[in-house]
Formats: sequence, C-alpha cells, structure tokens
Amino acid sequence: MQLKTILNRVESFKSFVYGKARWVEGVSRPTLEVEVHARKNGRAICSGCDRPGPSYDRLPQRRFEFVPLWGITVYFVYAMRRVDCPSCGVTVERVPWARGKSHLTTTYRWFLARWAKRLSWEEVATIFHTSWRNVFESVKHAVFWGYVHRDLHSIEAIGVDEIQWQRGHHYLTLVYQIEDGMKRLLWVAQERTEQSLRGFFQYLSDTERQSIRFICSDMWRPYLKVIAEQLKHAIHVLDRFHIMKKMNEAVDEVRRGEAARLKRDGYEEVLKHSRWCLLKRRENRTEKETVKLSELLQYNLQSVRSHLLREDFQRFWEYTSPGWAVKFLDQWCTRTMRSKIEPMKKIATSLREHRDLILNWFRAKGTVSSGSVEGLNNKAKLTLRKAYGFRTYEAIEIALYHTLGDLPEPNFTHEFC
Ligand SMILES: [Zn+2]
Repeated sequence: MQLKTILNRVESFKSFVYGKARWVEGVSRPTLEVEVHARKNGRAICSGCDRPGPSYDRLPQRRFEFVPLWGITVYFVYAMRRVDCPSCGVTVERVPWARGKSHLTTTYRWFLARWAKRLSWEEVATIFHTSWRNVFESVKHAVFWGYVHRDLHSIEAIGVDEIQWQRGHHYLTLVYQIEDGMKRLLWVAQERTEQSLRGFFQYLSDTERQSIRFICSDMWRPYLKVIAEQLKHAIHVLDRFHIMKKMNEAVDEVRRGEAARLKRDGYEEVLKHSRWCLLKRRENRTEKETVKLSELLQYNLQSVRSHLLREDFQRFWEYTSPGWAVKFLDQWCTRTMRSKIEPMKKIATSLREHRDLILNWFRAKGTVSSGSVEGLNNKAKLTLRKAYGFRTYEAIEIALYHTLGDLPEPNFTHEFC
C-alpha cells in the first residue's frame, strides 16, 4: 500500500492530489515530505472572497506540518498559486488543509489541541516535538472555532464567581452554565467590576438572555447590581457554596483576631494550629482534630462560639419548606447579633439584607444543581495552577475556555486521536 492511499483515506481534498513522498536528508528526526498538487483544470480559490479566479503566478514551495505518523514528522509541500481576483486584486489562494500564514495543517492543529485537553501544553509540545507556541496557537484556534460555533440558546441557569490569579489581587470573573446535564464555562473577563459581568449580558442576544431563569452569585455588590439590572425576569439565588464560603472566612477572621489577642495578653496559644479543625465539618475531622476541638470547647472562646454558630447554620440548608427556613434564618440572625462577635454579626447583617435572595435557594432547588459552581471553580483553579508558562491574560483565558468551555468541534472525516 502506498502512503498516498493512506493519506487519501484519512485526509482527501476535492481539488488537490498527493504526489511523491520522500525522506528529508540531514535532519535529526525522521521526516517525510509529501508533495501536493492542484488537479489539472482545478481553479485556484481567492482567499479574499472564496471564489475561483484565474491564476496569476506561483509562490515558492511551502511546508505545512501534518499529523506525525509512527514517530515520523510529516510535511505537505505545495507551491501556492496567486489569484488575479476581479474583486480582491492579487491574493494568495485558499487551500483546504491550512489557514492563513500557519505552517501547521488545520488537522494537526486540532490534533494538538485535543491532546492539550488531557495534558499540559508543555507535555504536548515535548511529546510531539513541537514548540509551546505551536501548541498554544493550536489551542487558540480550537477555542476560537468553538466559541463562534457554540450554542447559547436555552441556557436556564447560570452561576457567577470570581477567582484570583497572578498571586496578587487580580481577579477573573467567570460565568458558568450550571444545569443538570450541562455544566460549562460561558464567560471569562478580567477583574470583578460591574463591566466584567455586564460584558457577558451584552454579548448575549435578547432571546438568549431571556431564557435564563436562575442565576447564582455571591454577595459581591457589583455583581448584585448588574444582575438586578440585566436579569429582572430571573430568580437570583445566593447559594449555599457562596454563603458558606463567606461564613468560613468570618470564622477564620474571629480565630485569627482572637489568637493575636490571647498572645498579646500572655495566654497560652490554645488556638495555634486550630485553624483546620475549626473550619472542617464534623465528618471530615481526624481523631486528633476532634480531641483538639474538645479541648477548645472548654474555653468560652469567640472562635468556638462562631464555630458553633456556623455548624448550626448548616441546618438551614436541610429545610424543604421556605416558611420554616425563613423562621430559622431570622432566629439564627438574632442569636448571632447578640453574640457580640463582630465578623459573625457582619455575616448576619448581610444575610438579613439579602434574605429574599437566599430564600430563592429553596425556590431554585432541583434546577440549580448545588455545588456545581464550586466544582467548576475548583477545575478553573486547577487549570490556573497547571498553567505553567501562561503569563498573559490571553493564555489564561484560552486555557479556561479550552478545558471548561465544553466547546464544539467540527466533524472530522477521520479521528486522529
Ligand atoms: Zn476575491
């Protein structure tokens, strides 16, 4: 069987044929070059308007890297024609295996991009003897294609969250679709301002925006404002994940403040190393941590009381009737306000302030799968952590869409991987 036969099976073109294949001498890796020729009478296609036109001249031969075969690097070699197009002037022809100035064939780009979903970009570059830049460009190409071709109709539930990046106080705003059966990243923007989120709604068509029935977010004011303005028809939910995150932060703040105070006053450092056993839920604690906690409980410390308040609040999520839930919420807030523990009081105030949005959690039960924002966020953080070598925002954005966007791909005649 000839190489041509294999190539025609996996990648054939209407107006072009494969010619001779030859080994390239004097290179360190085994390399094949396969000639490509235009069919006789086949007219060149203008890359400006996609219409055939008369040939003007031929450019020197160019190489386009194709998917490697058995560890052999493969290039297509072709001398591009220039077209004398009546409407565009003289342009370089459009060829079906590559786009623009790329020296990688489109098929090879998809190949690299698919691997880059499973491995880090560096690993893909090493395995296929190519550069990080080539992998990046391939992923970018895949993301652009998917971004343009994705379907944003009938999105019912979305979640908004922010994550930190660049180890400083830089944030990214992320919007996810969070329905059962469809969880994906829809939007990434820099910072966590009103404009970071508003950009998403401006990007949607009116019908797409109207189909959204539920939105989850935290209590970050700029988000609340944009949601109120853009999604008047939807139920806005302050969800369990975000609220418990806030509460854990408050418990932690109390502990840190108290530890500093105790140290200053010369008491033994009872709270040292207690961070994890206070934050953990009972079922996740180790035996040693449980002992530590019972030691702590002998003191009437603010940390312990905040911890108990937090534990008690877990019951809130178990109610099925919003009526009982609201009763519990009000009692909990009253108790917490009396505790005189400032960070906890702040939580209670903000829960009271957003009472309706929190109770929406019960109305949205079943549609908004709880925990999915958290799950997607963890994946996003993992992507950022794996993102060794992504210095720029552009690379981060591309990586997030690539791993979490669930973006569509074209139909391939042959699956290379
Ligand atoms: Zn043209």
